[in-house]
Amino acid sequence: KPPAAPSRARAEIDLAALRANVRTLRAKAPGAAFMAVVKADGYGHGAAPCARAAVEAGAEWVGTATPEEALALRAHAGLPADVRIMCWLWTPGGPWREAVEAGLDVSLSGLWALREAVEGARTAGRAARVQLKADTGLGRNGCQPADWPELVGEALRAEREGLVRVTGLWSHFACADEPGHPSVAAQLDRFREMAAYAERQGVRPEVRHIANSPAALTLPETHFDLVRPGIAMYGLSPSPELGSAADLGLRPVMTLAASLALVKHVPGGHGVSYGHHYVTPGATTLGLVPLGYADGVPRHASGTGPVLVGGKWRTAAGRIAMDQFVVDLGGDEPGPGAEAVLFGPGDRGEPTAQDWAQAAGTIGYEIVTRIGSRVPRVYV
Ligand code: PLP
Repeated sequence: KPPAAPSRARAEIDLAALRANVRTLRAKAPGAAFMAVVKADGYGHGAAPCARAAVEAGAEWVGTATPEEALALRAHAGLPADVRIMCWLWTPGGPWREAVEAGLDVSLSGLWALREAVEGARTAGRAARVQLKADTGLGRNGCQPADWPELVGEALRAEREGLVRVTGLWSHFACADEPGHPSVAAQLDRFREMAAYAERQGVRPEVRHIANSPAALTLPETHFDLVRPGIAMYGLSPSPELGSAADLGLRPVMTLAASLALVKHVPGGHGVSYGHHYVTPGATTLGLVPLGYADGVPRHASGTGPVLVGGKWRTAAGRIAMDQFVVDLGGDEPGPGAEAVLFGPGDRGEPTAQDWAQAAGTIGYEIVTRIGSRVPRVYV
């Protein structure tokens, strides 16, 4: 593999900030265990280093979407053997045997998944750790209330045969980031009912959990035995409605910066980038930022995405292209190699991922998660 080129661009990952965020979140949920959600390569920050840092700060669990992500963590992240790893996005024919052998906790939303987990347990020669997922109102993954008794019954039957151990009962919120949304209370009631039903039937879960970042931060009644934050651990607010990262006591972990590839003088009336959607209003200097939508810089932020260059905010002028975009430097001449900061914690005057989210009409989650593999992660 050719060496990474941090001179072009880099995503600095501040693991001390991540550890501080984990401690802040833990303090908001005392008494609950902590699952660090590191799916999608740790929301773009690097799953293994973030998982290790979260564990150093006290996380007992690590969570991923796919089993492949979870297996890779177990095999290569160097996590202590007693750290539990859970994954929840299974499809038929998945690596059930490997998951059982690796001691993962696997989520089941239906009978087909239970059958495949049981088959995996038979081949592996040990019980599968399973967590039953209830759809309490998200309308996405999870078992519908009407199908719950059958899933619980079959899971208990497999548990009696020594093929599974039901380690958890869990669910996920739809609107926990919208303060006062009535669905939160409704989901919580349904979760309590579905968990209580399973326990009456004989399920003895180690953990019951439903709280994502907004719930962990703002809804103590949702904490149960474990909280499961993702975005807040990376230092972003789940939603502007809940306040900024700083309001929530969080520090953004990722800084995305590049070195200007070119600075040049152009006359007024000069079209910039594909489609000429920006035309220089007068003689000026242009700076070339060597990052584009292939690196995850959203094309939707063409004309709006902010960049700090030489102490001033500049805006992506014209279209963001696959590998590069242009900023109008208004006559300043910082010189090639000058630093362009797209986003960071904000305390050096730079924009934040939330500013990019607003510029692109999306959420901070998408901004950090989509930063591409061509951008080296530099751990500081
Ligand atoms: N739990 C599950 C099942 C998820 O899919 C996610 C991410 O969407 C999380 C927890 C973490 O959510 P958040 O990043 O909002 O804290």
